[in-house]
Parts: sequence; structure tokens; C-alpha cells
Amino acid sequence: MIIVMKPSATQEEIDRVKDKIESSGLKTHISTGEDVTIIGIIGDKSKIATLELTHLNGVEKTVHITEKYKLVSRNFHPADSIIDCDGIKIGGNEIVVMAGPCAVESEEQLFEAAESVKKSGAKFLRGGAFKPRTSPYDFQGLAEDGLKLLRKAADKFDLKVVTEIIDQNDVELVEKYSDILQVGARNAQNFQLLKALGKSHKPVLLKRGLSETISEWLNAAEYIMSGGNENVIFCERGIRTYETYTRNTLDLSAVCAIKNLSHLPVIVDPSHGTGRWEMIIPMSRAGIAAGADGLIVEVHPHPEVAWSDGAQSLTPKKFAILMDESRKIAEAVGRKL
Ligand code: PEP
Ligand code: MN
Repeated sequence: MIIVMKPSATQEEIDRVKDKIESSGLKTHISTGEDVTIIGIIGDKSKIATLELTHLNGVEKTVHITEKYKLVSRNFHPADSIIDCDGIKIGGNEIVVMAGPCAVESEEQLFEAAESVKKSGAKFLRGGAFKPRTSPYDFQGLAEDGLKLLRKAADKFDLKVVTEIIDQNDVELVEKYSDILQVGARNAQNFQLLKALGKSHKPVLLKRGLSETISEWLNAAEYIMSGGNENVIFCERGIRTYETYTRNTLDLSAVCAIKNLSHLPVIVDPSHGTGRWEMIIPMSRAGIAAGADGLIVEVHPHPEVAWSDGAQSLTPKKFAILMDESRKIAEAVGRKL
């Protein structure tokens, strides 16, 4: 349930409503908008049902919320949330691009990738140090050595780091080297990992699961937020469908759905979303046109010899074109890149 306060409600009236809710053992979430304050109630449904609040001074109305996710919901927080990632803001007017190789392979590969993506305007360096591979015989990542290289390359070229975490026991380790912790599609509903990230002070990039519905995805974000970490960014990376021509089906309608249902930012990963390098530029343009707050794109200095995901990796030259083309779309929809 949410309580919508009257525009004229005083701070005292807001506090009285909040105290009344909390004295029943329930939690509150306050969203202070330009005109009205909204008080969200979280906790036992039966307790919420017995609350009598409409008669209190300053209360405009109470609205019943049927969805299980609360903190993630736009009902609880009508204004867009802007996530501050060590100075880079995601969810505001500016489109933020993250780029780099699928996996960190070597210092030479990563530094070449970092230099080129920075030159084209990316703000984040991406790269996996822990790779969740379908086959146990495939390259599993350089682990902490990979994290160290990411930090070193990002610092050298004035970039931030986004990298995947696959184990709930690695939060401290990954936090030490990165600015955003990425939850991959295969761990999208790993609730132990999501709970551990709820305790992190770093923003989380939450990818959509392989066959995850929008409601399941929103609830996964609720796991993180309810643990205390409000800095969650969604990432649409394609879902499993009957189609085999593309690696996944990039569901751009999910961008609009997330924007309607949640106040959190959403970015698009056209690389895993299609699996084909020739589709990355058009799908990046489409993602921005659909309202995405950013992109995460795989770029490799030599895709033909990449240890993973070469077929969907852009060369630095193609990535420069992607940035130019995306900038035009961003401007057309009133945003900056
Ligand atoms: C990745 O970003 O390298 C990755 C493994 O992506 P996803 O989890 O979306 O498959
Ligand atoms: Mn990849």
C-alpha cells in the first residue's frame, strides 16, 4: 500500500503517518516529490490491511499495490532514479556507454580495448574476470588477476569498471576493483548472490535472466534493494525464444516496460542480445530510441582471435561508428551522448 499525502501536508503530518505505520511493526519508504510525498508501506499484508490512515491529517488517499515488488516500483517512487557510479550518473539525461571485451585475456588486449573505447566516448570499461561459461572446458576467466588488469587499464584511460560477479562470497573482492558489479543472465535469480549484493555499497547492473519474465526480473531487483542497496540498474540482454538465427531475442519492449513499472535506469546489451556483430549498431540505435539509459557493448581489438564471444564483438573502428550513430539518435530523442 502507498499513502499519497496532500500537496499541503506538513512535515509534522507526514511524520505522524510514518510513526503510526512503524508503530505497527511495518517499514516505510518515503519518496519526496516536487508536489507530493508518497509513503510506501512494506511488511506483513495482514497488518497493512488493519491500518486506518485515511482519516489522518494531510492524507490524500491510500492506494493498494498488488505487485510483490515495492522499492523497485514506480508507484513507490514516481521520479526517475539517477544512480551515481563514482561520479558517472546513469538514468539522467545522458546516455552512458560501457564497452570492452567479453573476457579479460591479457594486459595487451585489455589496454588496447580500453584506449580505443575511451577515445570513442565510452565511460565504462567492461570485461569479465569470472566467466560463467556453458562448458566447463571453456576459458573461465583470469579471476583476481583479471580484476587487477581492469582497474589498471580503467585508471590509465580514465574509465570506470563494470565486471561480473558470480559468487556471493566474492563481493568484497570484486568491489575492491570495480565501480559497478554485474549480475549475469545465468545468476539473475541467484537469490543468495542478490542478497549479498543488497549489502554492497556499489551499484549493481542486473541483467535479465535467460528466460526471465519482467515480473521476475523486477523481483530480483527487489532482493537487492530490500537488502539496503538502492543502486540497481537493469540490463536487457535478450531472452530465449524459438529463434536460432540470433543468439537471443533482444526484447526492446522490456525497456518500455521497465520504464513504466520502475523508477530505476535500464540499459541495453545488444551484443548478447543478438550474438551477431552486424546487428550491434542498429540494435544500439533502437535501444536508445526505445528509451534506454545506456548501452553495454563488447569490443575486442581482434575479434577473430577472441577467447569468447568473438562473433558478437565489434572492432574499435566499428565501435567508433556505433558511437557516432548512437549520438544522432540520442539527440533526436532529446538526450545527450
Ligand atoms: C557478459 O556480459 O559477458 C555476459 C556473460 O553476459 P550475459 O550474462 O548477459 O550472458
Ligand atoms: Mn560475452
